[in-house]
Amino acid sequence: MRLKPAREPSSSRINNFSEVTRVFSPQEALVEASRCLQCKNAPCSKGCPVNIDIPGFIKLIKEGKPAEALAKIKERNSLPGICGRVCPQEEQCEKACVLNKNGEPVNIGALERFAADSAACAKMPPMIEKDKKTGLALSVAVIGSGPAGLTCAAELAKSGYTVELFESLHLPGGVLSYGIPEFRLPKKIVADEVAYVRGLGVKISPDTLAGYTISLEELLGKRGFSAVFIASGAGLPQFLGIKGENLPGVYSANEFLCRINLMKAYEFPTLATPVNVAEETIVVGGGNVALDCARCARRLGSRVSLVYRRTEAEMPARREEVENAVEEGIKFCFLTQPLEFLADSQGLLSGVKCIKMQLGEPDDSGRRRPLALPGSEFIINAGTAVVAVGQNPNPLLAKACPGLKTGPHGTLVTDDALMTSIPGVFAGGDIVSGAATVISAMAAGKKGAAAIDAYLKELKHEA
Ligand code: FAD
Ligand code: SF4
Ligand code: SF4
Repeated sequence: MRLKPAREPSSSRINNFSEVTRVFSPQEALVEASRCLQCKNAPCSKGCPVNIDIPGFIKLIKEGKPAEALAKIKERNSLPGICGRVCPQEEQCEKACVLNKNGEPVNIGALERFAADSAACAKMPPMIEKDKKTGLALSVAVIGSGPAGLTCAAELAKSGYTVELFESLHLPGGVLSYGIPEFRLPKKIVADEVAYVRGLGVKISPDTLAGYTISLEELLGKRGFSAVFIASGAGLPQFLGIKGENLPGVYSANEFLCRINLMKAYEFPTLATPVNVAEETIVVGGGNVALDCARCARRLGSRVSLVYRRTEAEMPARREEVENAVEEGIKFCFLTQPLEFLADSQGLLSGVKCIKMQLGEPDDSGRRRPLALPGSEFIINAGTAVVAVGQNPNPLLAKACPGLKTGPHGTLVTDDALMTSIPGVFAGGDIVSGAATVISAMAAGKKGAAAIDAYLKELKHEA
């Protein structure tokens, strides 16, 4: 039987922001690792976007060698403590595990986390692959320090390039730092894995808004970088576009989560940033972002209703997180669509007028289209609302650099090798794909690093 790590009881965890899921004990890790059949063709590794040698690292855990297991993982993945916690494993490596056909897959994510946590990853010596050193003595600039930027920077540094990573915020990590809450991904883990990337020789320059503090021309010109990788993510919130959305009390998910995760508003007034959460909160959306907002509001003492216009079956959020939210007392209102945010006599948010929906024929996404049921309007009382209905690519850099070709919703257009419309400027992660996952952003970072390496070698060859 598949082992799952223990979780903090919901009655106590709703009172704090501590991590919910515990790490396997060495005994539990051994038992779970023993379920792996060590398949020769390793379908699980093919299901992992960064192709970790999964049977290889699981075997080392079984032999009681977590540090060696971690080194094996790090051959392909510089952020294992993060991936072990937030990867949608059920759609990736674990979906491809042979045991999934007639039973339950090996708990690969929990074993990866066990290796990362028990071997104290940041303290391991960085693994520069000296044989791969290019000796080109060239430098590359990376813009954005989320999983795509960190991975690209780490891979280039391992290949011997000088890498500087520019981040507009004061802390590196992208969504890992400002979006995903402490109770799912402790910031100490993010800091440790960023430290590992620094240990590979990557220089991280925070508080630098590329395109404004420093332009692409400057990077490629007087700053002397030979190539640039843009990994600026999808941080632009989408809104519902309904009446009352600007009322005090209505937050975008980005602002709400930034206040709580990046600025630690739950420690106000010890720390400077506040967040106002009323007795009743309504969160709009059905993805991981909406669930994170709902669970944060719950921990800040609010009763929370999450409204989603389709049914539970269509929710894009991870099942595990839906279960956690249910246990924590989040009320789910399916087939419900907000129509208007309502104000009280002082102009503050007092509630949300909603309408019931039913599912019609499938739309372009293949999911059944929600249709309003006339006459079914009703009001949910709430002094706080959080709109978590999606993010678009960050538009700032493309605005500052008109030479960068953009596609639908402001994504950056690239060729198959991730080169943008500007020679020597590559891009990957959410800024190219639109909002996706940590591991897909990391895979793009790896692909970008390989493409930049090939491009610079070709340039050197021609010179
Ligand atoms: P980001 O992580 O967005 O990083 C981009 C970075 O670029 C940011 O730090 C930004 O400040 C910086 N930047 C932007 N413009 C500039 C500029 N001009 N100059 C310098 N820096 C700039 N995925 C999962 O797999 N599992 C989950 O459980 C999960 N939960 C999520 C929860 C939330 C709340 C959110 C918002 C997303 C979640 N995701 C999850 C999605 C995942 O986090 C993203 O797909 C991933 O972080 C994208 O990585 P990225 O490197 O492309 O961009
Ligand atoms: Fe699975 Fe993600 Fe780890 Fe790959 S990185 S093995 S997809 S948990
Ligand atoms: Fe082990 Fe499953 Fe991978 Fe086979 S497919 S090697 S059982 S994790």
